[in-house]
Amino acid sequence: MELKLKNITKQYGEKKALDNFSLTFKPGIYGLLGPNGSGKSTMMKIITDNISPTKGEVFWDSTPILKMGDQYRSLLGYMPQQQGIYDNFTARRFLWYMCALKGIPKREIPKTVEQAAKKVNLYDVLDKKLGGFSGGMKQRVLITQAILGDPKILIFDEPTAGLDPKERIRIRNLISEIAFDRIVIIATHVVPDIEFIAKKVVMLKSGVCYGCLPPSKWLKTAEGKVFEFPAREKDIPFIEKLFVVGNLRRDEKDTVWVRVVSDKKPKAPRLSVLPPTLEDVYLYMFNDRGEKK
Ligand code: ADP
Ligand code: MG
Repeated sequence: MELKLKNITKQYGEKKALDNFSLTFKPGIYGLLGPNGSGKSTMMKIITDNISPTKGEVFWDSTPILKMGDQYRSLLGYMPQQQGIYDNFTARRFLWYMCALKGIPKREIPKTVEQAAKKVNLYDVLDKKLGGFSGGMKQRVLITQAILGDPKILIFDEPTAGLDPKERIRIRNLISEIAFDRIVIIATHVVPDIEFIAKKVVMLKSGVCYGCLPPSKWLKTAEGKVFEFPAREKDIPFIEKLFVVGNLRRDEKDTVWVRVVSDKKPKAPRLSVLPPTLEDVYLYMFNDRGEKK
């Protein structure tokens, strides 16, 4: 079970949304992390064969997906970044409709819908109208449509967009639960979405892959580069000019502590070196001052 992207370039006019991107996915959860406009959705649309690459090819177990047609599509479950949901439909009717679109045989549809709904804990609300669902429940319905027919490749594009923290955690855990024995790719610009559930994190910047590593290996890239020191509030804008600033923390004595990610050690009293988080790595990778790349 292997999905291979080989030298994928996608060009929109002069703009390269993906630039010679190569990567092989095996079963497990992959987090595709990059700022807005870095090419995540473009990559997912290419994997799902919704758009064609300008150059390069996608392979499933060494067969080009373009040669597989419907056989490839039946391996896919896709939750696009923007998807309309029909408020007047019940969850059951929406999922039936999605089954029909996927070409699941009619006699298998009732069982397919009920099994999927059980998996995501929506079984009890199958006959309720989607219009009355919370944002988190709607996202769960969209995840459910992706897993209909038990696909081997699951693609989630920004699955937690617009959700509150509690709903985010539920969606994250749900994705983690349904990931067994599948290739799961989650695109996001929100680090905590994938920090704990991804086997590997792919960093994407301006259409270029900056690596595909387990989170622990990414943390090593920022080791010894995360610092914290107290600062006067009026100095913070100045510090922001010099360093990539992460969180500001106010302690019980009302002192503000500045967290920075930097190749150079800041000259500051009471400075400490902190263990990096994936968010620090993200800031380090995607800062605009060209410190890392
Ligand atoms: P992300 O999902 O990481 O936010 P996208 O893949 O949506 O990034 O977009 C990558 C780049 O390609 C952006 O600069 C975007 O403006 C551009 N782009 C995406 N789709 C189109 C399109 N249909 N036409 C022109 N440019 C596009
Ligand atoms: Mg996107």
